[in-house]
Amino acid sequence: MPAKEATEIKITGINASPGICIGKAYLVDTKGVEVVEKYPVDGKNLAAEIKRFKSAVEKAKEELQSIIRKTPEELRQHTYILETHMVLLKDKMLYGSTIDTIKNEAVNAEWALKKVASNVKSMFQTISDDYLRERAADIMQVADRIMRNLTGAKGVDISAIDKRVILVAHDLSPADTSQIHLERVKGFVTDLGGKASHTGIIARTLEIPAVLGLAKITRMVNNDDVIIVDGTTGIVIINPTEQTLTKYEERQIRYDEYKALIARSGHLPAESADGFRLQAMGNIELPEEVFAVINYGGDGVGLYRTEFQYLSRPFFPGEDELYDKYKDVVEVMAPKPVTIRTLDINGDKALANATGSDEANPALGLRAIRYCLKKPDVFKTQLRAILRAAAHGSVRVMFPMISSVDEVRQAIQMLDEAADSLAKEGVPFNRDIEVGIMIEVPSAVMMADALAEIVDFFSIGTNDLIQYSLAIDRGNRQVAYLYHPLHPAHIRMIKHVADAAKDKGIKVFMCGEMAGDPAYMPILLGLGMDELSMNPQSIPAVKSMIRSLKLKDAKLFVKDVLKQATATDIEKMVQDTYGSVLSDMIYPG
Ligand code: PEP
Ligand code: MG
Repeated sequence: MPAKEATEIKITGINASPGICIGKAYLVDTKGVEVVEKYPVDGKNLAAEIKRFKSAVEKAKEELQSIIRKTPEELRQHTYILETHMVLLKDKMLYGSTIDTIKNEAVNAEWALKKVASNVKSMFQTISDDYLRERAADIMQVADRIMRNLTGAKGVDISAIDKRVILVAHDLSPADTSQIHLERVKGFVTDLGGKASHTGIIARTLEIPAVLGLAKITRMVNNDDVIIVDGTTGIVIINPTEQTLTKYEERQIRYDEYKALIARSGHLPAESADGFRLQAMGNIELPEEVFAVINYGGDGVGLYRTEFQYLSRPFFPGEDELYDKYKDVVEVMAPKPVTIRTLDINGDKALANATGSDEANPALGLRAIRYCLKKPDVFKTQLRAILRAAAHGSVRVMFPMISSVDEVRQAIQMLDEAADSLAKEGVPFNRDIEVGIMIEVPSAVMMADALAEIVDFFSIGTNDLIQYSLAIDRGNRQVAYLYHPLHPAHIRMIKHVADAAKDKGIKVFMCGEMAGDPAYMPILLGLGMDELSMNPQSIPAVKSMIRSLKLKDAKLFVKDVLKQATATDIEKMVQDTYGSVLSDMIYPG
């Protein structure tokens, strides 16, 4: 492979899908229609203009249907995303508002669509939660598709690519990504997108390396340039030197060996070398991610975040819609458990139009369980759907952001009322399910003994527990350097919660990001976690770390950890004691 010594460029983006690939760049023009003309449409032609818009939407629907039909087998589970796009085509925020704008402003359809789309975009831009921001990207991709039909611009046909290449694109929609033929596309890089984008999710399912959010990669790379994509670290190297090429070729071989090892050991239990069995569960946000949990050897779903169905729509979903989705996940996972967390809306998951609230400090505002207790209709609809889904497999319900015993009592009462109403109506359901709470607020840590009397399990949400106990906004880059799971205060809180749970004979789980990092396993095992829930992709590495540890050593190790005064000291202990085991397994590249 030719290498140009002088022009090697290294850039870093978001590591969306792990692995390394080396190959020639293939630029895909997905920028969409950038220049849109505005012109007035007089009264008598307005109906025709609206019709033209409706036909463009209809055509977009047909295109998506055809892509769904042609989607290769390994991506079938993702056609759900394309179906979501079909629903978004008729979303009131996009469809209804564009028609209103054509009418009210007497303008052409392209201009109206562009205006509406950019309003939607700026509304979502203020949200700090990556996941929600990515859902806004779905709306933009749908708007682009309609726009291309209005202007007659040509779409991208990824299925027509006939060489082994690395795709370089401004953005890739789920529809684009689902046309990828694995035998031709080695990996891809994009200007836009993040880890939680559907494109990222699909890349992980396909197990091809991807680096997203590179800002201007499409302007830096030419067709046929040699590029290296390291999806594990998020590094992309354009025109690598011979030396860099050799280094990455070796890493690629080591990574492939590691993957083969994981594939062989992924379904072994998360059992310590001295026989203590933990459950390694998966976190999911979209129903179809349940397949990733199974593929990576998960023992169940430890956290099903249910916010997705409440987004980008003028009305909240109805009971039947929620029930259908929950039932799908529960049936696929059965007999393994699915832990459904009730709505955790607001805070960093705010959607201004959905709640109508304007809070100066949303993280401390009407969020999660507080919101649900204030909106019994919304809450009961979800609780009824969960209880109905529970008739189809093993379900647990979990309440987020609990800060007092009263909240739990009220939530359980509403759960009972939901069950009573279903019983009265003769609708099948199952109330015999475990009820748990997330421990993510310091007051819940301090009240763990009392809380343990009234629930079946705790699940520690370290993402928020760190935010609230160390007073660090989890979305604020300025203070990100202070956000440390190994802060001794945080470790002591986990211990306090675990001890209270053990005293009262209930189980203690963890479902924050901390639970998915092999480096924290000696501490989490030693502190007494019964179950850890993480990104499905992290399950094999976490399992293999646990398999290399002994519970008895971990308990002794934690005794010393608890004597340390700083996060740095604890980190050093982890490195000194487990550094060599970790470096063999965590970054095999
Ligand atoms: C947490 O806070 O750790 C958690 C798992 O919940 P979320 O990240 O959805 O707030
Ligand atoms: Mg949380």
